[in-house]
Amino acid sequence: MGIYEKFFLKGLEPDPLLTISEWADSFRFLPKESSAEPGKWRTNRFPFSKEIMDVLSPQDPTTEVKVIKGTQIGGTEIANNFLMTYMDLYPSPMLLMLPTESLLKKHRQMKLVPSVRAIKKLAKKIKPGKTKNDLGDNSMMEFPGGSLVYAYSNSTANFRSLSCRIVCLDDVDGYPDDVNNEGSPIALAKNRADSFPNRKIYINSTPTLKGISNIEKEFEDSDQREYFMPCPFCKELITFDRENFVYDFDEENYELKGDVVYSCPKCGSLIEEYHKTWMMSEENGAKWIPQNPGHPYKGYRIPSYYSPLGFLSWNKIFREYLKAKKALKAGNEKLMKTWVNTRDARPWEEQFIKVKVDIQELLDRKEEYTAEVPRGVRILTAGIDTQDDRFEIEVVGWGEGYESWSIDYKIIHGDPDLLETQKALDLYLQKIFKHESGNLMRIYAAGFDTGGHKTNTMYSFCKKRYLRKFFALKGSKDINAPITTGRFSLKNKGKVPLFSIGVNTAKDDIYSALTITSPGALYMHFPNKDIYDENYFKQLTAEKKVNGRWLNQSKKRNEAIDVRVYARAALAIVGIDPTDLANQDRYFFYQQINQSQNTQKKQRTFSKGIR
Ligand SMILES: [Zn+2]
Repeated sequence: MGIYEKFFLKGLEPDPLLTISEWADSFRFLPKESSAEPGKWRTNRFPFSKEIMDVLSPQDPTTEVKVIKGTQIGGTEIANNFLMTYMDLYPSPMLLMLPTESLLKKHRQMKLVPSVRAIKKLAKKIKPGKTKNDLGDNSMMEFPGGSLVYAYSNSTANFRSLSCRIVCLDDVDGYPDDVNNEGSPIALAKNRADSFPNRKIYINSTPTLKGISNIEKEFEDSDQREYFMPCPFCKELITFDRENFVYDFDEENYELKGDVVYSCPKCGSLIEEYHKTWMMSEENGAKWIPQNPGHPYKGYRIPSYYSPLGFLSWNKIFREYLKAKKALKAGNEKLMKTWVNTRDARPWEEQFIKVKVDIQELLDRKEEYTAEVPRGVRILTAGIDTQDDRFEIEVVGWGEGYESWSIDYKIIHGDPDLLETQKALDLYLQKIFKHESGNLMRIYAAGFDTGGHKTNTMYSFCKKRYLRKFFALKGSKDINAPITTGRFSLKNKGKVPLFSIGVNTAKDDIYSALTITSPGALYMHFPNKDIYDENYFKQLTAEKKVNGRWLNQSKKRNEAIDVRVYARAALAIVGIDPTDLANQDRYFFYQQINQSQNTQKKQRTFSKGIR
């Protein structure tokens, strides 16, 4: 019998001193819209969540609670229970922050509003929204005794002047380091609660990169708890750690064979996954134990291995691990980074800084192409870097799995402001290349740096040629920004469609691809041309990754890497995966000999990526 029913039968109102887990067990319904297991919330389904919710309760003096987590461990519901208990029983001024406005809107509509609506007694307290199903609006929910104000980490406008007892900072690894030159949004949000001695600040996220992860820093500033459970065989308290999982796999194709089990680090017994329900139960002795005892802030680390039976299985987790391992062996670390972050709940330590790309090895890689454009190439793009006295251009061919071929590197000397220099560039970009199949190819799209030198000149150059898919680019400051969002902005001097590009992400991809040593997906081919000399490869590898960001620290020339980034960005903006072009390439990207003009009509539109 839940507490509510107990009091209800006695004819009493529920005890107002409920903890969050008691409130959730009494009132919380998980809505169909957002829940894998809709229906009544049971804290014992996520036993590790009880203490987290209880230290967030008003009965506990802890002011800051930090959770570094994997996915599918009920993290969102813990935050929802936290907010809703205060809205219902302990109404206060409250703040909920997500990384961006769009993530916030999505969270509000998909998770928060349906969750509140599922509890009639709470929903009745909330000021209704404009539509029947809505509660509150895009800026807040109001209720007797308080309000929940929404904020997003890249703008301080809507919370700058607030004072809040309850602060919930969700997904903090998506927050920028600085917002409007006012400092870290986490610190700014925490300051909002300074005047409340009974404040509660809840911070959670899956981690990202070691050294720059926000949740890693927050967790370090806590008592760093791990969830210990009794071994079903020796009854000693143990945690689930990656290195003690045991599994068999096919070494050829990295397929999992049989079920994943856990080897008890104390007695060596093999624990099957079904044991975890028993093990995780508090009644059987499971508990959080601080690894940094005495710290006033509570921190909880919870990897996905603890996902309740029926959610995310060990088999699925380690199938993903093997897939990531296979990719890592081929030089692509992306999957492994995601796995370590979202499953093992640990920040990823950059490997690249250690993977030294050897220039001699790259020089030895140069090959005699069998045609100007080898057979594997399905589409050509170009990247253009503007300097005060020249343009540098690289034409890159892309094939299946983003295997790439450097086709040509061209330097056009002259002042980019001069019409004749621009004409020479324009002429070069109209060049027709001969494909091994005998077809002729043009450059399909080109990316131009407009962030550095000669910005206005390049704006107007690109604007006039937008229909030729000449894209004006500007590097995003956000190191995690995707190569492109597919959208452009017109908010600039020349009202030119300006694409913000994730330079750091593009460089991650390129430097990752450079470590691949055999042709196939992602491999970078270089032609046996003089311009691809030692100097070119020095430029290509000029940058080093420091705290997650690629930097040209020695200030050496680095145009070769820049133009490669712009060529890659142009491909991303047109939104074409070269792999998809296997059977249709001739219609879009080659000009058949004797068929020069009418291909124009059939060209694929690229409006898909532009809103
Ligand atoms: Zn044991």
